[in-house]
Amino acid sequence: MDQDGDTKNKLALLGGEKSVKLDDTDIFTWPIITDRHEQAVLEVMRAGQMSGIEVTKEFERKYAHSLGREYGLAYHNGTAAILGAMYGLGIGVGDEVVAPSITYWASVAQAYTLGATPVFADVDPDTICIDPKDVEHRITSRTKAIVVVHYAGMPADMDAIMKIAAKHNLKILEDCSHAHGALYKGKEIGTFGDAAAFSLMTGKSLAVGEGGILFTDDRKVYERALLFGHYIRHDEITLKELKPFAGLPCGGFKHRMHQLSSAFGLVQLELFGRQMVEIDKAMNYFCDLLDDTAGIRPIRPPKDTNTTKGGWYYPHFKYISEELEGLSLSRFSEAVGAEGSICNPGCNKPLHLHPLFTTMDVYGHGRPTRIAYLDESVKIEQYIEKLPVAESINRCVFEVPWFKQYRPEVIEEHARAYKKVIKNYRTLLADDSNKNADVGGYSSFFSGQG
Ligand SMILES: *Cc1c(COP(=O)(O)O)cnc(C)c1O
Repeated sequence: MDQDGDTKNKLALLGGEKSVKLDDTDIFTWPIITDRHEQAVLEVMRAGQMSGIEVTKEFERKYAHSLGREYGLAYHNGTAAILGAMYGLGIGVGDEVVAPSITYWASVAQAYTLGATPVFADVDPDTICIDPKDVEHRITSRTKAIVVVHYAGMPADMDAIMKIAAKHNLKILEDCSHAHGALYKGKEIGTFGDAAAFSLMTGKSLAVGEGGILFTDDRKVYERALLFGHYIRHDEITLKELKPFAGLPCGGFKHRMHQLSSAFGLVQLELFGRQMVEIDKAMNYFCDLLDDTAGIRPIRPPKDTNTTKGGWYYPHFKYISEELEGLSLSRFSEAVGAEGSICNPGCNKPLHLHPLFTTMDVYGHGRPTRIAYLDESVKIEQYIEKLPVAESINRCVFEVPWFKQYRPEVIEEHARAYKKVIKNYRTLLADDSNKNADVGGYSSFFSGQG
């Protein structure tokens, strides 16, 4: 069967037939726009309420209620929601914030705006989430908070992290931008932290266009966030220590969400539960088909733990090159891509190696911003981390198709593409010269999937 000239078995990269023939791009369409979305947006437009707050407040109430949190506060994007959350938690000049190195920059870069110093921790190679074992030894008297990112849909190890936070009296900020609807041991992510923030941009699991939202049960966190960037809502401020400053946004920021987004979001909230069930079924089916395949391992929570990936944003698998005689991930990805499926090597690049976090003097302090607000005696070298997993993970994980619909025959074709490449991996070894190709990026947009 495998003789030359058999175009069905020959890899498409080497001139054979493609595995994916159905060409169903609709299975990836996101977000799914219905008449109800159009109606909701048109209504706000026609009423001239784009800059109002009533629709947004309804969106906040409903989302907070569905998550079981006391307060929700919407933002024009997730980056702003995280900045607001940091201010809300009291992060300020001279504080340190521990965050994973593998994440989108907006999990932690905002610390600079508040005069705080990010400290990076390594990630767990099985989950790509912050490794709790690499956190505790980074805690100092300056540490104020840990940013936890539920990366690429995987809930982080919250039991271990909450224990560390309690022991050292630290705040937890959950960045839930990749994991809307995910459960950790039966409890929804976004309900663990002193504050939680979600991006709601177009590519995310719960998409409203550009938008973000902050949740907390702590009145003080909520009111500080209001004071910082929501000046037309300062009538909600009740705390004595904040009241004198109401009227102007103390941060000089305007964080209000566009009401075309919140109107759209109200419809999304209603549909999301059902969509998530469909995505979860489709993605688990794809993973099941590839579970026992050499060289690759789905990244998903173990069965029967009541831990789930929710909307499966930016889904990844592990790549185990040794099981394929050292075949590089870039060559492997090229071959799967040629079969008509999606296989994007890598994930986010490690933040701790970027010059923004080593040398750059953003504001003109005359020293790197990373240490600009610390004692003069502090040297930048003290903050330069070596994080072995973060520095190698881009060669060990890849992004797989993110199916939004359960259509078994299409999903099977994509799984077949992977299986065919793995079955024929030896034919790729001869010309594997691109081993050290630069993979991963600072945005997840590079993947073209969202
Ligand atoms: C998308 C994202 C953000 C920022 O959200 P925006 O809405 O794009 O500003 C923050 N953290 C993570 C992990 C993200 O993926």
